[in-house]
Amino acid sequence: MKVFKFGGASVNSVERIKNIAGILGNYSNDRMVIIISAMGKTTNALEKVAEAFFENNATKALELFEEVKNQHLTTAHNLLAVNYNLCKEDLSSFFTEAEWLLHDKPVRSFDYYYDQIVSIGELLSTCIVSHYLNEINIVNTWLDVRDIIRTDNNFRDASIDWNITENKLSLAFQENVKNNKDSLQRIYITQGFIGATDDNETTTLGREGSDYTAAVFANLLNAESLTIWKDVEGVMNADPKQFKDAQLIAELNFEEVIEMAFYGAQVIHPKTIKPLQNKQIPLFVKCFLDASLPGTVIHNKNIKQLPPIIVVKDNQVLMHLHSQDFSFVGEKPMIYLYDLFSLIKIKPNLIQTGAISVQICLDNKEEKLEELATKASTIFDVQLQKQLTLITIRNYNKEIIERIVGERKVLLQQQTSNTFQALCF
Ligand code: ASP
Ligand code: MG
Repeated sequence: MKVFKFGGASVNSVERIKNIAGILGNYSNDRMVIIISAMGKTTNALEKVAEAFFENNATKALELFEEVKNQHLTTAHNLLAVNYNLCKEDLSSFFTEAEWLLHDKPVRSFDYYYDQIVSIGELLSTCIVSHYLNEINIVNTWLDVRDIIRTDNNFRDASIDWNITENKLSLAFQENVKNNKDSLQRIYITQGFIGATDDNETTTLGREGSDYTAAVFANLLNAESLTIWKDVEGVMNADPKQFKDAQLIAELNFEEVIEMAFYGAQVIHPKTIKPLQNKQIPLFVKCFLDASLPGTVIHNKNIKQLPPIIVVKDNQVLMHLHSQDFSFVGEKPMIYLYDLFSLIKIKPNLIQTGAISVQICLDNKEEKLEELATKASTIFDVQLQKQLTLITIRNYNKEIIERIVGERKVLLQQQTSNTFQALCF
């Protein structure tokens, strides 16, 4: 069994959806589960619908939703010759589900409504792709992942209940075997990013969560591999938009990828790695624009020679905390600070303690920063410095630091034997 995940960019037009069929042609003997994201920028568009609804602006919410509807109907119409009506019927039931809700008044939390509305994106995209593939004789079974992925009710950031999910998954497969006269279906198509609670309320796992769903499926199915299809050649050692000479890394180990994600590289959702590593399932990152390219393989093997890996994170804030009575910053104030991080759910990107001060580099999340600053000001004098850039270089050398940091003014710098970090203007 193989697990494939196709991201939003791989299904954002009729041509791209057709391209998926071409890729699947190379795997015509494999059994597989295919996880597909919402098309293109649909998730962002649905977020706007949820916001308008929650602001009690039902008219605007319905208008915005109408655009999403039309885009999907147009795509389905241009894609499908035979199955259009069937597909339209299925799409309509998802539309109705959302529209019912949009005609109500918000009485529950924003996060709850967010999940009910935003989750539609993946249901629509998988529905269209599944009908298309069936139409061209790539026979597949569409599964509603909400019948499989069971979560708690922490809307927008739900956690998976692995035991129930595992049972539901084998049940779903058994049922399909029965329905298909005892023959195992070769291809299942389902959604990433979404799940459901005990009460059958839809949840989401956090933005970009589809990679994680794919890893969960790979783990529970003991898949031979997971392949994530992206619009880039594979994992690069730097963002090619920022560095023209960014190079492909052919082979990486799980640990390095976790480190990269931790420092802010937008490679793969960090939660994706553990379910794969636990079962030693290799992860391939391949380019859907040219499936013949080798891409990157990520596995448990030790890799000797890695190039320097550069992660640039903009929009950073440096919080200077200074002890109010010039007493040393001992364990107690640090415990207080770390408790605040966990309470506010904010993660320091870099932290340095001195005798009577602490410097913390954080992402610029307005509300969280404000809360942190207010609470920290009970024991510290607090100052903020904004619009900074955090540069991280793994496997660094002198030349690369010189080249990347160069003339920038460095406010804070740290290095270990393999990681160099500088917070700069
Ligand atoms: N569609 C969701 C998002 O854009 C989940 C995903 O694509 O991974 O965040
Ligand atoms: Mg995506």
